[in-house]
Amino acid sequence: MNLAGQLYKLQQLDLELQTKQQELNEVENQLSDNKALVAAESKTAAQKEQLEDAKKKQRSSEWELEDLQEKVRQIDSKLYAGKTKDPKELVNLEKEAKSLKSQIRMKEDSLLGLMSQAEEIEAEVKTTSGEADRLRREWEQRRETLGPRKSEIETALAKLREDRNELVRQVDSQAFNVYERIRLTRGQAVVKVERGRCLGCHITIPTSQWQKAKAGDLIQCNNCSRILYSE
Ligand SMILES: [Zn+2]
Repeated sequence: MNLAGQLYKLQQLDLELQTKQQELNEVENQLSDNKALVAAESKTAAQKEQLEDAKKKQRSSEWELEDLQEKVRQIDSKLYAGKTKDPKELVNLEKEAKSLKSQIRMKEDSLLGLMSQAEEIEAEVKTTSGEADRLRREWEQRRETLGPRKSEIETALAKLREDRNELVRQVDSQAFNVYERIRLTRGQAVVKVERGRCLGCHITIPTSQWQKAKAGDLIQCNNCSRILYSE
């Protein structure tokens, strides 16, 4: 392989390396992006806490209700057992029973409210945790596919780097420096010559230069400085 051919081959390797590196970056980005899952999991956790709280309120309301009901039962048994003969005491007991019963009705209403609140939160937890489960499965699937894909790309990259190093060892070091310098500023350092034109800038190049490029010498385009390659 002549010098221009070597540099052209070097450029092909560099372009492939660039493409593979981009692929690797994309795969790594996808592998590190689990924001949706994290958000769904923390939302579920927050809702579960809310549910716990609502159920606690419901239980204490149930106990309070039971207390009130027990008090009414005691008064009722006093009233109907006929043990209390004192009319004044009877009136007081009846008053107390009436007040307790109205408290019970209020308590029952608020308990119903608490129960439906807890049910609503429970339904929300179900939806959110279902969504989190779905995202977790997706995430695991993605990792299962992307994990091997990542190693594949890394292996290919290692091979390309090896090939590049091997080629660089063979290339004249001065020519390599010219290549690297143009690559930094132009992106693509070596361009083909087609029908006498530089494919980098499309300007017609002198025939003598084209001939030298064909012979494999290191010839740069007068206009864009790129290295000319002609098969
Ligand atoms: Zn040019």
